[in-house]
Amino acid sequence: MKCLAVLGSTGSIGVSTLDIVAAHPDKFRVVSLTAGRNLQLLQQQIRRFNPRLVAVLSPADAETLKSSLGCGAPEIISGIEGLIACACHADVDMVLSAIVGAAGLIPTMAAIENGKDIALANKETLVTAGPLVMEAVARKGVRLFPVDSEHSAIFQSLEGHRRRDVRRLILTASGGPFRNRALAELQRVTPAEALAHPNWNMGRKISIDSATMMNKGLEVIEARWLFDLPAEQISIHIHPQSIVHSMVEYLDGSVIAQLGIPDMKTPIAYALSYPERLPLDLPPLDLCRLGTLSFEMPDLQRFSCLALAYEAMRAGGSAPAVLNAANEVAVEAFLNGEISFLNIPELIRATLENHQAAPLEHIDEVLRADLWARTEARRIIDTSF
Ligand code: NAD
Ligand code: MG
Repeated sequence: MKCLAVLGSTGSIGVSTLDIVAAHPDKFRVVSLTAGRNLQLLQQQIRRFNPRLVAVLSPADAETLKSSLGCGAPEIISGIEGLIACACHADVDMVLSAIVGAAGLIPTMAAIENGKDIALANKETLVTAGPLVMEAVARKGVRLFPVDSEHSAIFQSLEGHRRRDVRRLILTASGGPFRNRALAELQRVTPAEALAHPNWNMGRKISIDSATMMNKGLEVIEARWLFDLPAEQISIHIHPQSIVHSMVEYLDGSVIAQLGIPDMKTPIAYALSYPERLPLDLPPLDLCRLGTLSFEMPDLQRFSCLALAYEAMRAGGSAPAVLNAANEVAVEAFLNGEISFLNIPELIRATLENHQAAPLEHIDEVLRADLWARTEARRIIDTSF
C-alpha cells in the first residue's frame, strides 16, 4: 500500500490522480490533500478519500470547510505551512506534486528534504530551481518520477538502455490550437480560442502555455534537469496527433519512442506505481484507424516563447525562474484581457532584458528572482502596454 499526498487535488492532474486511486484502492491510500479555492470539489474528495490532513490557501476557507464537514472533518490547515505539512506528513510515501506554477516549488522541495518520493507534474519546480532540486534529490536518495507525458515517455524510452549511449532527446509538441495561424492572425486571438486545446484537456495556465508554446520551452528546461543533458541534445518535433509522446535517439541511430492516446492517466499511473503497470480504463490506441502520424519542425519566429526559453536556459542561474514568473504574470494578464496574445512573449522578453542572471545557491535566491520578475513584469504592463 502506497500512501500519497496529493498537492493540487482539485486540478486537472489532481482529479485524474484521484480517479486512479479510486480504481486501485488495494494499492494506494490518500494521506493528505491540498487545494486552492475549489472548496466544493475538495469537500467531495475529503468525503470520498478520508485523508488525515488537508490544506487550503486561506484561513477563512479552512474554517468554512471545517464547519461544513462537521464532526467527521479531518485536520484542516492553511497557507504555505499547510502545504508543507501535507507534503511532509510522516505517513506519506510519495508526493504527487500538481499545484500549478512556482507555488509548487516550496512544498515539493520540502517533501524531497523529508525523504519523500515525488511524482512530479509541477514542471515549474524544475524550471525555476532545477539544479537545487536535483542536488537535493541525489543527496536525500529519493526518487523523482516525471508525470509530464513527454518526460514520462523519455523516462520509459531510457529504461534498459545506457545513458552514455544517448545522442539526443526528441520532445514532441502538438503545436497547440494556433499551429497553423499566421503571425498577423495571432495578434487578435482571444483567451477562449487559446484555451481550446485540440488534444489535451488541461488547466487554464498550461493550456495558454501550450498555445504560446511556452509549455514546450518549460519542458525543454525540465528535461535538461531531469535527464542531465545540455540544450544542444534536446530537440523538439511538432507532432499534431499527440500519439508519440517523445523519443530518445541513440548513438547507433536507433530511436525508441513511447506511444499512447493523449490521456494523462497513463503517465500519472506509471509515476505512481513504477515499475508496475496498472490496468487503466482507457480506449486502446488504434494506429490503423488513425492512419497517419506526422512531424514537422517548430517555428521559433511565430512561437518566440520557445526561443526565449532556450535563451533563459543558456543564461542559466536565475534566468529560468525569471522567465517562468514573467510568463505566469503574462498568462494571467492575457486571461484577464489586459494584454494581447503576442504581448505575452514581448512582456517576458522585456522582463528578461532587465534582469541580470545570477547563480543559484539557495532556494531563497529562486524566490527572490521570482518575486523580482513578478513585480517587474507588472510594472511593464502598467507602464508600457
Ligand atoms: P489546474 O489549474 O487544473 O490545477 C492546479 C491545482 O493547484 C488546483 O488544485 C488548484 O487549486 C491548486 N493551486 C493553484 N494555485 C495554487 C496556489 N497558489 N497554492 C496552492 N494551490 C494552488 O492545473 P493542472 O493542469 O492540473 O496542472 C498542474 C501542474 O501539472 C502544472 O504545473 C502543469 O504544468 C502540470 N501538467 C499538467 C498537465 C495537464 O494535462 N493538465 C500535463 C502535464 C503537466
Ligand atoms: Mg507535457
